[in-house]
Amino acid sequence: MIPIKLHNTLTNQLETLSPVHPGEVRIYTCGPTVYAYAHIGNFRTFVFQDILRRFLRSQGLRLLHVMNVTDVDDRIIVNAAGAGISIREYTEKYIQAFLDDMAAINLEQPEILARATEHIDDMVALIEKLQNKGFTYKSDGSIYYRIAKFPKYGKLSRIDVSGMQSGARVDVDRYEKDDARDFALWKAPKAGEHFWETRIGPGRPGWHIECSAMAMEYLGETLDIHAGGVDLSFPHHENEIAQSEGATGHLFSKIWLHGEHLLVEGQKMSKSLGNFYTLRDLFAKGEKPSTLRFLLLSVPYRRQLNFTEDGLRQAQSSVERLRTFITRLKTTNFPEGSYEPMMARIKRAETDFDAALADDLNTAVALAAVFDLVRDANSAMDRGTFQQQNATRAIAAMEKFDAVLAVLTVDDDEKLQKMGFTQGDTRMPAEQVEALIEERKAAKSARDFQRADAIRKQLSDSGIILEDAKDGTVRWKYK
Ligand SMILES: [Zn+2]
Repeated sequence: MIPIKLHNTLTNQLETLSPVHPGEVRIYTCGPTVYAYAHIGNFRTFVFQDILRRFLRSQGLRLLHVMNVTDVDDRIIVNAAGAGISIREYTEKYIQAFLDDMAAINLEQPEILARATEHIDDMVALIEKLQNKGFTYKSDGSIYYRIAKFPKYGKLSRIDVSGMQSGARVDVDRYEKDDARDFALWKAPKAGEHFWETRIGPGRPGWHIECSAMAMEYLGETLDIHAGGVDLSFPHHENEIAQSEGATGHLFSKIWLHGEHLLVEGQKMSKSLGNFYTLRDLFAKGEKPSTLRFLLLSVPYRRQLNFTEDGLRQAQSSVERLRTFITRLKTTNFPEGSYEPMMARIKRAETDFDAALADDLNTAVALAAVFDLVRDANSAMDRGTFQQQNATRAIAAMEKFDAVLAVLTVDDDEKLQKMGFTQGDTRMPAEQVEALIEERKAAKSARDFQRADAIRKQLSDSGIILEDAKDGTVRWKYK
């Protein structure tokens, strides 16, 4: 196995992954707060975590990955109370939507999806542990974490706590950048809002305690990897460290990974700018799941991703190029035999692909390795040097790449229909047209004119006009 290097936010360095339990990587990722549909910025983070999962597994590692579902928080409680329904009823719809969205863009489900409301006891036990160690104090029925008691506070986000007033506290879960304060572990009940009756009193958990409790419940006191969006590093992840390490005295997570922001056409995504998108908004505009997945994975996770119309069109044509290539491999009758330089070329692409991902999940370089191979193999086919065993080998390589990329299966329309997005466009998909054209070319060069004519007719019947140029290239358009 090649060494896998990841950029650890905690040390600000590339570090080689070395799991606590050899052969098994234990990962915790902060999941969605289910009060609305997740947006494409959230999904950028989830896609990067999916690439991490799939790559680790492709390297022979087992995974134990926990993702939380925040189904209790300030906004959920207010919205559910406002709608006059229970938290469970309110969140159910968004949890299902999240699972459907995940499936649409081929995100694997973590081994454990943990709902906060099903782990209240674990959170209470962790708060008791912190109480016994003197990390907490009570005020107005709420329980707060005293960050002055944890000298390493700020080590992840490198926040300066020197000017911090001891005892200054904050009740909301999400607060201003750089404003380090004592935070609520347990919140006193408010009139008309849902609460739990527990050993530490009535109330509900803060957001931060949820992740510490559920991570350690399933993964042990020290995780291999904790990941999330960069906006979570402070206060959320800082507070997770303070809670977990305060309670156990051990390192909470060996490696912390943070995915960068997503911009839309160069601007911060916001509802007021009208550039705020969920996956569903984009499906409704006719974008395909594979296009969105490709675009979101194409930029390495530590770089800002600028989500643009141009980027969407490029992602779509990149996916089509890959699908056309694999169709050509599968449908062309190549001469029997093996062209050895092509075998070496395919091997090199595999090595480059793995090396790129082992270098802090550099998806841009990994994709370049794939597309360089596609170009070289296509020109070997055009030259006539590509042989049948090369095709078998190249198909295996493409399948290996796709175990991580997950964009080759032609199922976009089916998925969209299942989610209720009817496609206005009933034309033959471009990738299918391209594949048939390749097949027709191959039939012609094999002097199988009957097959070549049959394909021309099939395309013509489907409303595709072919233009054969003198140099052998074929252009096409819809009627
Ligand atoms: Zn979290």
